[in-house]
Amino acid sequence: MTLRFRVLGSGSGGNATLVEGGGARVLLDAGLGPRSLAERLQSAGVDPASLDAVFVSHEHGDHARGAAAFSAKWGVPLALTRGTFRAAGFAEAKLPAWDEVAPGETRTIRRLTLRAVAVPHDAASPLAFVASAGAVSFGHATDLGHLSRGLVEAFRGCAAVLLESNYDPAMLRDGPYPWSLKERILGPLGHLSNGDVGRLLEKGLGEACRHVVLAHLSRKNNHPELALQAAEEALERAGRREVRVTLAAPEGTGWVAVHASRAPSSRHAGQLRLF
Ligand SMILES: [Zn+2]
Ligand SMILES: [Zn+2]
Repeated sequence: MTLRFRVLGSGSGGNATLVEGGGARVLLDAGLGPRSLAERLQSAGVDPASLDAVFVSHEHGDHARGAAAFSAKWGVPLALTRGTFRAAGFAEAKLPAWDEVAPGETRTIRRLTLRAVAVPHDAASPLAFVASAGAVSFGHATDLGHLSRGLVEAFRGCAAVLLESNYDPAMLRDGPYPWSLKERILGPLGHLSNGDVGRLLEKGLGEACRHVVLAHLSRKNNHPELALQAAEEALERAGRREVRVTLAAPEGTGWVAVHASRAPSSRHAGQLRLF
């Protein structure tokens, strides 16, 4: 079974990722306006009305801004936690349908399964997602303040993962943000740094993983080369030369195909402890 994804937007300007597999098609987040979302879907050759659902990770505008209007215009149901629904101020009467998903639950649309994974972030009930078609899985996590055990375990079997690599600590420290905002970003419910991502790639990445996409880079507090270098150095230290790293530009990526890989089962039997 094949699985593929395409980032349609990444970062504070708006996040959305299209995932296709198992005969289904979903959006993860809708942080762009409904018109931009529709245009980006159409330029990927996808009719917006053909989507099966929009899964919303949390209520922050860069993830949820276009969700309700897109859902209403194209008749595509939303899937999200009750906490996110309330905090985003969505109104049931204005949506064609919405599915309340609780952290830890899965939803299966034809042969595509979406698993909701709770993540630590300063929102009502924020989620990461694992999309699976057959034996192939793709993990998608933006906006989390630290690497929780639940997330690392949920991503362990993924052949591809998308992770936020939000900031370089020195750039954030010396940058223009007020201290209160810097503290929020650095805190346990803020965002992941390049070093946090490196720690996951070096010590917690599953053996099946062959592709890492770095997303949600801050324009002011990070530089694409720094994020890429931190990830590549971490993989190098872990001896994971088979893993490819790509950066999601603010306007997204092309299609990325996810393939099942035959992971060697014993090489990393003595996993280093991440916690
Ligand atoms: Zn965000
Ligand atoms: Zn957020």
